[in-house]
Amino acid sequence: MNALSKPQAGFDPYAAREQFPILKRDVNGKPLIYLDSAASAQKPEAVIEAVADVWRGSYANVHRGLHTLANEATAAFENARATIGRFIGAERSEEIVLTKGATDAINLVASSIGQTLEEGDEVILSQMEHHSNIVPWHFLRERKGVVIKWAPVTEDGRIDLEAYEALFSVRTRFVSLVHMSNVLGTLNPATRLAEIAHAHGVPIMFDGTQSAVHSHIDVAELGCDFFAFTGHKLYGPNGVGVLYAAGDWLNRLAPYQGGGEMIAEVSEDGVVYADAPHKFEAGTPAIAEVIGLGAAIEWLTAQDRVAIHAHELSLLDRMMAGLDEFDDVRVLGTAQEKGGIVSFVMENAHAHDLAQLMDKYGVAVRAGHHCAHPLMKRYGVTATVRASIALYNTAEDVDAFLEALKKARSFLI
Ligand SMILES: *Cc1c(COP(=O)(O)O)cnc(C)c1O
Repeated sequence: MNALSKPQAGFDPYAAREQFPILKRDVNGKPLIYLDSAASAQKPEAVIEAVADVWRGSYANVHRGLHTLANEATAAFENARATIGRFIGAERSEEIVLTKGATDAINLVASSIGQTLEEGDEVILSQMEHHSNIVPWHFLRERKGVVIKWAPVTEDGRIDLEAYEALFSVRTRFVSLVHMSNVLGTLNPATRLAEIAHAHGVPIMFDGTQSAVHSHIDVAELGCDFFAFTGHKLYGPNGVGVLYAAGDWLNRLAPYQGGGEMIAEVSEDGVVYADAPHKFEAGTPAIAEVIGLGAAIEWLTAQDRVAIHAHELSLLDRMMAGLDEFDDVRVLGTAQEKGGIVSFVMENAHAHDLAQLMDKYGVAVRAGHHCAHPLMKRYGVTATVRASIALYNTAEDVDAFLEALKKARSFLI
């Protein structure tokens, strides 16, 4: 092992890997090199066991139960909500709505805020949003005549702050921005972005789906009104996500979906809603998955996250330096404030072909538009290859990736 491949003090990726059973398998006769965690991360034993334990030992529907299993499941479910709230620095558990994912959380906000908007009202997004944070706002454009304004992205992959500030007008009603780009890896200056929005009297939401994984989140420090993220990219189960809403936002917003669990009383003449956050949680939730997300967060926060961050950045540097050796590779996203997500294109080779060939060597990377069509258009490309780094990746993974890319290239060019 050379110097770079030595684990950082405080975090040993080789030991961490042992806790992820899937990483032991082969793919196409080669050891699996998993570099697709920005699409979905693999799960440690602690999460697999937590989910299985619910189903094996204390499963029942939550809330309003009068029997022991229902009470156990409810306690574990609400305990997970409290863990999730602490993880992002929420003041109270009541600020945490459990959703199906980040997409569901953003749709909730767009739909509920949307009910207060009128034709000609404006919302600000950026060119680097995931479709999850674009399409729900297009609904409001189509249905209510809401105007979407786009904060431009600089060549190195940052939100242009001056241009962003210039978008505000007397009609601006809401800002929704990605905290960390799932394509560029850029970590946006959230505190500053929120200050600017608030200086104009406009509330702001961050899509924290990637930043919750790769950085320390304190919603008070970010100063945001809403923060959305998803369980399955945070080493937790899929089918569960989180919406944080500061202070009494949830009391001020109309509910998103109707059904059981979100009501206090229903009659033939009307409905009295349950208190927040339950008002926003219609229907039976993803019980074991929510508890599994609580377990994922407990597992993650028991690690040295500062050392994990340093480990991921050292792999990022190694990957960027390796890609720099290819004169036909162009990396999209070279900002200073960047985490372990690397998107690139290669001259004369299609991203899909590269990804498929690399899979022959056991290397799992993603190719495509990464649910970010406006960003692809911004850079004049239709697809990129994306390699994304997680805590369980190693310097050997990065080297295998570079080697596979070289071999794939030799087939194509
Ligand atoms: C993955 C992703 C989403 C969507 O998350 P889901 O879990 O699919 O709802 C939204 N925003 C970003 C930045 C993402 O990476």
